[in-house]
Amino acid sequence: MRVAVLPGDGIGPEVAREAVRALRALAPEVELDERPFGAAAIRESGDPLPAATLAACRESDGVLKAPIGDPAFDGADVRPEQGMLGLRSALDVYANLRPARDGRIDLLIVRELIGGLYYGARGIREDGTVFDTLEYHPREVERVARRAFELARSRQRRLTSVDKANVLDTSRMWRRVVGEVAADYPDVEVGHMLVDNAAMQLASRPEQFDVLVMENMFGDILSDLAAAVTGGLGLAPSASLGDNGPGIFEPVHGSAPDIAGSGIANPAAMLRSAALLLEHALAMPEEARRLERAVEVAMRERPTPDLGGTATTTEFGDAVLEQLSR
Ligand code: NAD
Repeated sequence: MRVAVLPGDGIGPEVAREAVRALRALAPEVELDERPFGAAAIRESGDPLPAATLAACRESDGVLKAPIGDPAFDGADVRPEQGMLGLRSALDVYANLRPARDGRIDLLIVRELIGGLYYGARGIREDGTVFDTLEYHPREVERVARRAFELARSRQRRLTSVDKANVLDTSRMWRRVVGEVAADYPDVEVGHMLVDNAAMQLASRPEQFDVLVMENMFGDILSDLAAAVTGGLGLAPSASLGDNGPGIFEPVHGSAPDIAGSGIANPAAMLRSAALLLEHALAMPEEARRLERAVEVAMRERPTPDLGGTATTTEFGDAVLEQLSR
C-alpha cells in the first residue's frame, strides 16, 4: 500500500511531519511517497500541481495532504489554491466529510466538493461586471446525497439537507433530488433546512445534528462554523472521497502563515486526518481508533498554545507516539 504525502506550505510541513511519524509507527508496511504541492511546488517548478505529483497521487491508495497557501502568491496569476482545486477534480473526490465532535456534539458535514459555485462558469462582462455561477447537474447532487444517506445509515440515521430553496433554482432541484434519493433509504430520517437557519442552529444547538449534506460553498462556510463550536480549526480533519480511486485526507485549517516556522502549530487536525486515511483508504479501522485516542490524550496532556497550553508541535507529536507505543 502506498500513501502520497503532500507537506504543503506554511505550517504544512510541520504538522505533516507528526502525521508521518504516527503513520510510520502504526503502519510501517505502508510506503509514504512525499511530493511537492502548492506554493512550494510553484517555487520549484512554476506549477502548484506538478504532473509527477498528480501521477503519484493517482497511483496511491490515499493522499495525505497538509495545508497549502502562501500570502506571497495572493495576487499572482498562478496560485497554490489552483493546485488544490485541480487535484480535487482530477481525483473526482466529490464528497468532503468533515466530522465535528465535542461533548454531546457528534455531527458530520458532507460537503459537495467539485461542483457548485467554486466550479461554475465565471468571467468578466464587457461593462466590467464580474460573475461566478452556481451550477449543478442533478447527477452531481444525487451521488453526494446517496453518499450522505449511506453515512447517516452507519451513524444515527438522521440526515439534514441544507439549501437555499426559497431563493435559488439549484437549491429547489437539490431538495427534489434529495427527496427522490430518500425513497431508497426509508430507515433514515431526512429533513431540509435553509442555509441561514442552519448557520444559526449550528451556532446555538449543534447537538441536534447527525449528518448534514450541502453545496460546496455552503459546506465550506458551515464546516468552519462547526469546527469553531467543537474546539477550533486546529482540531478539525476532513476526508474527500470519490467512488473509485484514492481519497484526499487533510485538515480543515489553512497554512497559518502567522505562526509558520515558530514550531507551535497544533498537529491534531493533521493527525486526525491521518486517522481518517487509516480508516477509509487503508482499511485499518483499529489503527485509526488508536490514533484518535492518542490524539485525545495528547490534547489533554500536552496542549499546544491554541488549546491554552505550552507544548510545541513536536512535543504534541511525541505525546501521541508515547501513547501509540503503549
Ligand atoms: P488558517 O486556517 O491558515 O488560519 C486561521 C487562524 O487559525 C490563524 O490565526 C492560524 O494561526 C490559526 N490556525 C490554523 N491552523 C492552526 C493550527 N493547526 N494550530 C494552531 N493555530 C492554527 O486560515 P487563513 O489565515 O485564512 O489562510 C491562510 C492560508 O491558508 C491562505 O493562503 C489560504 O488560502 C490557505 N488555506 C488553505 C487550505 C487548504 O490547504 N485546504 C484551507 C484553508 C485556507
